[in-house]
Amino acid sequence: MANKCNSCGGTYEPVQRDGSRYSHACSPEIIETPAVFKADGSIKTPEVRVPRGYIRNENLTIDPQTREPVMVSEGLGVTEL
Ligand SMILES: [Zn+2]
Repeated sequence: MANKCNSCGGTYEPVQRDGSRYSHACSPEIIETPAVFKADGSIKTPEVRVPRGYIRNENLTIDPQTREPVMVSEGLGVTEL
């Protein structure tokens, strides 16, 4: 069953075909305005990127108080597809 990240909209399989887990992490930036190119392929206007809010990062870290492994950041959660 695939998951859809509610922070970035990305979809992924949390368990890979070989049985290993995939830990999703959102890209840290959003392309707010795409680049515009001239007919010769050179850049007319560069893209504009902004930091993404509510980043989901499923990699594990150690909680400093409980010493238990926890997800780095829940972000806006996931929707099971
Ligand atoms: Zn994401």
